Amino acid sequence: MPLENLETIIGLEVHAQMNTQTKMFCGCSNDAFGKPPNTTVCPICMGHPGTLPVPNGEAIVKAITTALALGCDVQPHCHFDRKHYFYPDLPAGFQISQYDFPLATGGRIAFDLPSATAEGSHAEGLCKITRLHIENDAGKLTHRGKFTLCDFNRAGTPLMEIVTEPDLRSPEEAVAFVQELRRILIAVGASEADMYKGMMRFDASISLRERGKETLNPRSEIKNLNSFKALEKALTYEEQRLRRLWQEEHGPLQHNITVGWLDEGEATRVLREKETADDYRYFPDPDIPPLSIDAAKLKEIRTTLPPLPRAMKQQYRGLGLSDAEAECLVADTKLRALFDAVHGKTKDGKRASSIVLTQLLGFLNASEKDIGAAPPTEHVLTLVERMEAGAISANAGKEVLEAMVETGKSPIAIIEERGLTQMSNDAALEDLVKRAIAENPGALLSFKKGKPQALGAIVGWVMKETKGKANPVKVSEILQRHV
Ligand code: ZN
Ligand code: MN
Repeated sequence: MPLENLETIIGLEVHAQMNTQTKMFCGCSNDAFGKPPNTTVCPICMGHPGTLPVPNGEAIVKAITTALALGCDVQPHCHFDRKHYFYPDLPAGFQISQYDFPLATGGRIAFDLPSATAEGSHAEGLCKITRLHIENDAGKLTHRGKFTLCDFNRAGTPLMEIVTEPDLRSPEEAVAFVQELRRILIAVGASEADMYKGMMRFDASISLRERGKETLNPRSEIKNLNSFKALEKALTYEEQRLRRLWQEEHGPLQHNITVGWLDEGEATRVLREKETADDYRYFPDPDIPPLSIDAAKLKEIRTTLPPLPRAMKQQYRGLGLSDAEAECLVADTKLRALFDAVHGKTKDGKRASSIVLTQLLGFLNASEKDIGAAPPTEHVLTLVERMEAGAISANAGKEVLEAMVETGKSPIAIIEERGLTQMSNDAALEDLVKRAIAENPGALLSFKKGKPQALGAIVGWVMKETKGKANPVKVSEILQRHV
């Protein structure tokens, strides 16, 4: 059978770390980044006998919020199960997860198809969600020669596991999907989804089938991919490998397999035949009561749902922003809040984009700062008000913004220090205009002979005389009255 008749089928399991204050079942700090190993641990997350886990309400609310954003049905009743396996990074000998009664089921994510990234074309892909459940993370192992070091700071971190239907048809589509999911997680404030800190990890299942058939063949599951690049490369590699196998064996895999991705070798390696669920000896955790989520609570959480990234992106495109600019705003809550505030003043999308995305981001980059180090919103708005009112010129505004980023001073202080205020004093400007007319008789003559652009020379004289501080709009107005 010709290989072009084969269709690629991909489904994903995504683990996302929730950005709660504390861990999933104890009071330890959930922010272990940069902290020495084994310093954010306690007897509960170390799985000591006799300790009792207490579910983290903040994590449950964040997981429900995410489920609602993905269009899932949040279940009125669910519970936590113990998933048993032995590994040195799992001190209790089991993970607390959810098995047959997950927090939420169903749902879908719409995303821009990769084939449609060209400006102006926005074909939509759709991937259904099977379920979303809560579980805790394991610790981290570092292998050093003969030794393995265990750091349990991450043990007990709250995770959401989001499982998709096998609706994705190519590695590129899988990446576009997880990128959209990442934007949603950030938008609802459930996860920082920082890839460098391993806050999003993927298991990807891939199989092949003949086009037109509905059956699902045994699949290869690639475990623990922690970047978009690894996801795409591993899936592309495995897709090619399965196609070659199909050619040799005249058909699909005979049974499910689990493979690992070797970043350095850029290849997959078969790890094992997939454990069946039985191997984990799932049973309801006897220490944690079942969870009931009532309709009133759900309704309350639903009212806190922010606008979702795709809707926002469309809205920003509508303001005249490019796809890249819209995506930039959608991806960053702080940047977006600042843009929205500036846009509220200017009522002009392109102008707000020029101030926030071009100038401010440019100055921040130049001083190697991120958006967190941006001037306070009130300062930026004061500056914008000054520009809008014509108190300072657009060029001076740019200079002030740069100084704000560099020095942290208020725009008022910088404008005064540098003497950037435009002259808007009518009487003073009127005198200047009269002098300018007297000094430029040639320009006035040309104007009277029907060359309106000749007045430019008179305005120019005033600007030069005031070292650029005169408000050019006002100067022109006054000049019109005198010619
Ligand atoms: Zn703890
Ligand atoms: Mn899991």
